[in-house]
Amino acid sequence: MLITNVKAHHVSIPYDAGVASFRQGASAIAALDIVLVEVSTDAGVTGWGDAFGYVCPRSAATAIDEMIAPQARGLEVPDAEAIPAFMDRIQRNLHLFGRYGITMFAISGLDIALWDLAARVKGVPLHRLIGTSRRARIPAYASLLRIGTPELVARECETAMRGGYKAIKLHETTAPTVFAAREAMGAGVPLMVDMNCPMDGAEATAFARACRPAAPMFLEEPVWPPEDFATLAQVRSEGGIDLAAGENACTVHQFRQMMSAGAVSYAQPSVTKVGGVSEYLKVAALADQMGVRLAPHSPYFGPGFLATLQLMSLRDDGTFVEVFYMNRAACLWGDHINVDADGAIPVPQGPGLGYEPDKAIIEHYRVS
Ligand SMILES: [Mg+2]
Repeated sequence: MLITNVKAHHVSIPYDAGVASFRQGASAIAALDIVLVEVSTDAGVTGWGDAFGYVCPRSAATAIDEMIAPQARGLEVPDAEAIPAFMDRIQRNLHLFGRYGITMFAISGLDIALWDLAARVKGVPLHRLIGTSRRARIPAYASLLRIGTPELVARECETAMRGGYKAIKLHETTAPTVFAAREAMGAGVPLMVDMNCPMDGAEATAFARACRPAAPMFLEEPVWPPEDFATLAQVRSEGGIDLAAGENACTVHQFRQMMSAGAVSYAQPSVTKVGGVSEYLKVAALADQMGVRLAPHSPYFGPGFLATLQLMSLRDDGTFVEVFYMNRAACLWGDHINVDADGAIPVPQGPGLGYEPDKAIIEHYRVS
């Protein structure tokens, strides 16, 4: 079976995040931009992938059309065993264009599509192609966008919990917002704090110590720059709170540096950024080896979210799947990825990633 084409589709779905109107400068997410990667074959089977596309959808789509498609078009469709070597060759061919960022987002998109394809060819869901299902439903956490004021953070936490969520992550950088969330959620409910790399080591350590009475499960990316693993390790040991990082790490190689430095308690591979399913599996294996827990990054709703559910079903490790907390104008997967009253999402059981993207939604929200 041959790959006949690799094509990017940019879909932009509006969202409403209510009180979370605080915008983070250049990294503000104006819409749910999804860069779908469609891999076509001469047998008529299609695989779907997902390249991280917030703020950079046109760049990611161009990278797929310009750099990635020529690497795959005309080649034999690899089976599951052959995908890592297939992708390793592409990583080598394209390494001079960036080992992290747009290039790797585009590589991730192709990798996910090839895994979807391999599982579809076998007629099994992706988790069964890779291993054994250990969870049929994945508990979700509400990943709140930055809000900024303690009162509104508290109100949003209460609303999310009424909606079924049993765990919440904030995107906040002040102690009063963290304490407001804890107060609203009650003791014992998992609370995570994602900071997006704002502080130096001394500031981050002071923040961690200040937050300790609120008992966050972890602080995520407290330190600038994200690749300063020595400082992260210092904050982790002196701050007295578990740290999480990894959404900005380049492949398993940088995760190894991060874990070896003792920088994190939780590793956060993002399937649409790290190099796809192949690289995610390497990070998961390394984390087990190094005694580091996993907390995947997945604030997106394209095929990468389904891939994350598939990968999380392979581990009965109690981890939560990240769900961006917002009202979406539409969803590629109907109601299938809605959080239920128990705060969980069922693992898709259809072939490949498990569901077909809704073609009418793609066309309606397509950006040409
Ligand atoms: Mg984050």
